[in-house]
Amino acid sequence: MIVVKVGGSEGIDLPAVCADVAALWGKGQRLVLVHGGSHRTNQVAELLGHPPQFVTSISGYTSRRTDRETLSIFEMVYCGEVNKRIVELLQAAGANALGLSGLDGRLLEGQRKAAIKVIENGRRRVIRDDYTGTVQRVNVSLLRLLLDNGYLPVVTPPAISLEDEAINVDGDRAAAMIAAALGAETLVILSNVPGLLRDFPDEGTLIREIPRSRADEFMEHAQGRMRIKVLGATEAIDQGVGRVVFGDARIAEPVQRALAGQGTVISR
Ligand code: ADP
Repeated sequence: MIVVKVGGSEGIDLPAVCADVAALWGKGQRLVLVHGGSHRTNQVAELLGHPPQFVTSISGYTSRRTDRETLSIFEMVYCGEVNKRIVELLQAAGANALGLSGLDGRLLEGQRKAAIKVIENGRRRVIRDDYTGTVQRVNVSLLRLLLDNGYLPVVTPPAISLEDEAINVDGDRAAAMIAAALGAETLVILSNVPGLLRDFPDEGTLIREIPRSRADEFMEHAQGRMRIKVLGATEAIDQGVGRVVFGDARIAEPVQRALAGQGTVISR
């Protein structure tokens, strides 16, 4: 069993990712695909006159400010355009893909944050109307039902809160939870970089291997959104996933190359 997460940043080659996923699927590989949609969400939010905003938590993680209107735009892009485009590409490549969000069948359930503490211009501020949270439970039987019947699940945030609200959750950490829940041997996290770079954006400084025990040290190299990927990777390993590979989604056969160890490999 493998779980593949493909990001939503600029430059990602979705047709290449889907062709590769479908090829593996065709060879009998059990697989769940999780995706993002951040760049397109930013564009659509601008077009709709509700420009994106990002907040940095006091622990140093960056996330999208998700008020009710942002949540609607987020759903339009993630559950609508991006999810359906991926399903279309996979269907065209011969894989019977089925798209669903974390809301559907309570696939991804988690706690909404009652308040988020952020740093703004060097000062602390508390935001209470944010629709964000963290995945705590995965409806594994729903995924198995689909997998056992020949469907390739294509999963997207949002998740559902314990109070039944849609919540924006981090895709990398959601993929980590799914990989752990399914007992996956590998979680592949694809983005628009070759992996974790020691000296971003110098692609010649790729870190090839990170033992879990030294993940905190390597976290120093990650900035912005990359920090959440490192966090997600450690969460996956701590919950029993064999290895996590950060791979490049701008190249041909991105999944097979990541599985062959091209990228940053995090293991126990
Ligand atoms: P995605 O939407 O594909 O999941 P993100 O934009 O969330 O990707 O995260 C990948 C981004 O992290 C890269 O495009 C890069 O700008 C940023 N980044 C920050 N520090 C690093 C680093 N040390 N190595 C690689 N990428 C980094």
